[in-house]
Amino acid sequence: MNRVQALERIKVRHSRAEYQAYLKRKLLIENDSICREIIKERALVSTKIFSNIQSPKEFEEGTKRLIELGNRIEFRLKELLKNQGLDEGYLAPKYYCSQCQDTGFIGGEYCNCLCSLLMEGIPSGVDKDTCFTAFDELRIPEGAQRENTKKLKDSLILYAHEFKRGSQNILLRGLTGVGKSFLLGCTAREISLQGFSVLYLTAYDMLQRFKDKHFGREETIESIMSVDFLVIDDLGTEPMLNNITIEYLFAVLNHRSAKKLPYAVATNLTMAQLMERYGERIVSRLMDRARLVQLTGQDLRLAALRGNA
Ligand SMILES: [Zn+2]
Repeated sequence: MNRVQALERIKVRHSRAEYQAYLKRKLLIENDSICREIIKERALVSTKIFSNIQSPKEFEEGTKRLIELGNRIEFRLKELLKNQGLDEGYLAPKYYCSQCQDTGFIGGEYCNCLCSLLMEGIPSGVDKDTCFTAFDELRIPEGAQRENTKKLKDSLILYAHEFKRGSQNILLRGLTGVGKSFLLGCTAREISLQGFSVLYLTAYDMLQRFKDKHFGREETIESIMSVDFLVIDDLGTEPMLNNITIEYLFAVLNHRSAKKLPYAVATNLTMAQLMERYGERIVSRLMDRARLVQLTGQDLRLAALRGNA
């Protein structure tokens, strides 16, 4: 869910809580003759002081009377609650989130309730900790690898922020463990936060869906075809199945290219290996209007194990 939708949802919760509190109060007042009398008198007094021109003294006395009547209603309501065995908080709005009272913020910071709605926006397949703010450049060996990865991160943030139908495709190549999946996951999440539909799949998961479709276990691969942004991670690690892997992959890429629906692909394979494995038709789709990025360097997981020594 994007920010606008999440805040909208919270606003609805807020007004629902307030409205229910209003209804409870209204019901209590309408069912009590003393309350009704006070309300009637209050209406008379306010008509009198606001509709006729009054001397300042009369105006002041009228206003005082209104406050008095208001206090009497509150007092009477308390009595009624007590008589009916209801607690004092009965008339207070019951907010979905008592911490922020359904505003989404506590002291200018996101409340947990807002965060969890935003989390709903995390595309499936993307880890909850995968976001650009979690990018830790210190995990990357110093030098060219760190500089290149930072540059790529910045360009992907820009890509995500300017994302639209017709945006370039991305082909991200590099050895295992240099951070390709993480960066594409962050990109997917950022695009999703802006309200676009996003699907993040490993090539292996995608092949499972192709198989389900092929053998009639699943009717469509509609979401792969039509989400606003598709990420295919680890292309080249999936099995090659006759009549499925290449055929369906081509159908997806071809359809998406024709509809100008962007996709990003990460792979460990070189261009020559891609060509050998998938053939020219698919490689030309992968390169179609694509931003080609090669991420070099050593495996970050191994670098971490070695303590960046
Ligand atoms: Zn909250």
